[in-house]
Amino acid sequence: MRLRFIGAAQTVTGSMHLIETNGKRILLDCGLYQGKRAESTRINKNFYSGDGADSSQQYFHPAQIDAVVLSHAHIDHSGNLPSLVKNGYTGPIYATPATRDLAGIMLADSAKIQEQDASFLNRKLAKRGEPLIQPLYDIEDALSVAPLFVSVSYHRETTIADGVRVTFYDAGHILGSALVKLTIDDDGAEKTILFTGDLGRRGLPILRNPEVINEADYLITESTYGGRFHEPIESMQAKLQEVILRTIKRGGKVIIPAFSVERTQEITYTLHRLFESKALPRIPVFVDSPLSVNATEVFRLHPECFNKEVFKMVIANDDPFGFEYIHYIKTVEDSKKLNDIHEPLVVVSASGMCESGRILHHLANNVSDPKNTIMIVGYQAPDTLGRRIVEKQPRLKILGEEYSLRAEVVEMHSFSAHADHNDLVGFVRNFDTKKLRNIFLVHGENEEQTALSTSLRQIGYKEIFAPKKGDVFNI
Ligand SMILES: [Zn+2]
Repeated sequence: MRLRFIGAAQTVTGSMHLIETNGKRILLDCGLYQGKRAESTRINKNFYSGDGADSSQQYFHPAQIDAVVLSHAHIDHSGNLPSLVKNGYTGPIYATPATRDLAGIMLADSAKIQEQDASFLNRKLAKRGEPLIQPLYDIEDALSVAPLFVSVSYHRETTIADGVRVTFYDAGHILGSALVKLTIDDDGAEKTILFTGDLGRRGLPILRNPEVINEADYLITESTYGGRFHEPIESMQAKLQEVILRTIKRGGKVIIPAFSVERTQEITYTLHRLFESKALPRIPVFVDSPLSVNATEVFRLHPECFNKEVFKMVIANDDPFGFEYIHYIKTVEDSKKLNDIHEPLVVVSASGMCESGRILHHLANNVSDPKNTIMIVGYQAPDTLGRRIVEKQPRLKILGEEYSLRAEVVEMHSFSAHADHNDLVGFVRNFDTKKLRNIFLVHGENEEQTALSTSLRQIGYKEIFAPKKGDVFNI
């Protein structure tokens, strides 16, 4: 059996690993690589190594893949599926039911961004008289992925190719996220591989805790936050309350840029709890992003993924994401009307790093008023508007105009949906040291992987690798 690491290898995007056994090829995840434009295009367009010029360096042709297994719907794990299908893949894509539904809306949204990106670039190219480009994929390509999904619930072992079975366990990261166990009959010897996808955290507001797994021959684990420690989840509710109360006192608005999937629902659910317990006075809350509104609908369809507390609310006919003064906004007109309200309110809008979407309008209208608060609840990559806000840069360019940053800026790190160093070490610690042969660290940068690998060696695991893109292991 051969294991090839194609993406999220010493980096955090483009999750993609290939298992070759018994003449079959199984692809674990098919994520979008997100980086500088030219490099991203090259990597996402070609399922090749290097520059793709030498066909002997080809990892695989999409038509040669027998099955795809998807750990969860985040774009860095699912976002290159439309390219895979566009280039000839016609086989099944195994995922949990919630992942299938979330992937449906997220891939369509990603296609829209690809199309907008291409037309923006084409306007510039046309002016210079240079040849135009095609988007990586379009809406039609994204839609053509949907019929290939085969949904498999947690704990239902399913044969996906000759001698290969898959079982999903709850990863506690986002709705539907799975730890993927592959049980493989490799020339008569049974071997198990556990792939974490992204590992979640214990105690997140909506989801169950990640399941404990204690046996596998090989572990492929994410390492995003190796060597890093999150604020405790318990502080989330109190801090949210404190910041909103402070802003209400000033008569201001709280603007929260948030990722549409999971973060938005965690915030609305936490606000629901705060209003219910009268910890906050009644002020209107607006969720203003079409993807966030659609994602919340998908959450409502999958109570089987909720923890006991949220599940009980659903049974009692209490909508975890809906309460008297929360408004889900779909149309641009309704979004614009928010500017006419001059009283305290909360706006939750996307994109999470303030790179696109309606959040830009809300920021443009509100960053310069010291009464307001911009609450940053997620990771902000370098060179994004979100990062400039976190850095409290005095002048911000938003939608082509300059604005002074005078609003209060608050950062909250307790919302992270990723395991931190202690969570990762705790997860691996459950595995039987004698049975586990190799640990492969993926989905992490060098520094984080080194920190994690050092701790894992200290607790008795020796064969730890951090593969580079293209590395192949015979196991
Ligand atoms: Zn993820």
